[in-house]
Amino acid sequence: LEIPNITLLDGTEIPQFGLGVFKVDPGEAERVVADALAAGYRHIDTAAIYGNEAEVGAAIAASGVPRDELYVTTKLWNSDQTRGEEAFAESLAKLGLDRVDLYLVHWPQPMFGEALTAWKSLIKIHESGRATSIGVSNFEISDLEEIISETGVVPVVNQIELHPLHQRRELVEYCNARGIRIEAWGPLAQGKSDLFERPAIADAAAAHSKTPAQVILRWHAQQGRIVFPKTVRPERMVENAQIFDFELTDAEMAAIDALEAGQNFGTNPHEMD
Ligand code: NAD
Repeated sequence: LEIPNITLLDGTEIPQFGLGVFKVDPGEAERVVADALAAGYRHIDTAAIYGNEAEVGAAIAASGVPRDELYVTTKLWNSDQTRGEEAFAESLAKLGLDRVDLYLVHWPQPMFGEALTAWKSLIKIHESGRATSIGVSNFEISDLEEIISETGVVPVVNQIELHPLHQRRELVEYCNARGIRIEAWGPLAQGKSDLFERPAIADAAAAHSKTPAQVILRWHAQQGRIVFPKTVRPERMVENAQIFDFELTDAEMAAIDALEAGQNFGTNPHEMD
């Protein structure tokens, strides 16, 4: 697979495309990650709460892919925000790794007020070299302002729900202005909408002999976003990765932009507790 890298604020590189393993059962995760690695995937996005770090690690170990060719992300779960370093050590042990490429605070949880505590623990973990890069997920502008103003350390990414029906333009502009790269979770709206049948998507798919999923993923990639669509099916793994061999026109991009509907499918960032 030919996957471009993106350079993050800290100077490191991240493959722009990978595999997300949210809701991949532990019983299936090792097979899924093994299939993805065999298909050429090199970037895996997991989280402590997904309950499959051990299986992700087992697949990595069995694959024989050199560690420095892999990009592994995991995330600090909400109930662990005040014990970040211990929780991180547990994640590393499950993954069977001595470092991850990217470690994220999973949700800001402003109602508990511990996001800054969590961020400070990630800064220490980063300084120890066990997380090459650190970032956040589901942070709103106010959450970002707090951790940046208090620590001076800017997260390299903000991983947020983002797809054509929910484009988060104000937050994206804030992040772009500070060099914080957007990782779009639910890039395909989690398969929970009629997005694939919308004319803006279906027409572009027909015009480029691509599938609706490929058109949506290309729309993300063409705006410099990092994506890791989830699938457990090998044929879809191959399909989803084939997005770097065509280009949407300005008119096609604008037609997809016009699908913005303020419609999200996950939890609102400030309501997750
Ligand atoms: P997604 O948008 O990637 O949707 C996945 C679903 O889309 C699949 O279950 C399937 O139904 C469908 N799909 C995938 N490929 C397809 C194809 N080629 N054709 C037709 N349908 C297809 O949603 P997601 O899994 O929620 O998001 C991707 C990743 O983002 C996750 O696996 C996880 O790693 C991450 N994520 C992070 C957070 C967070 O809070 N940080 C939350 C949700 C997801």
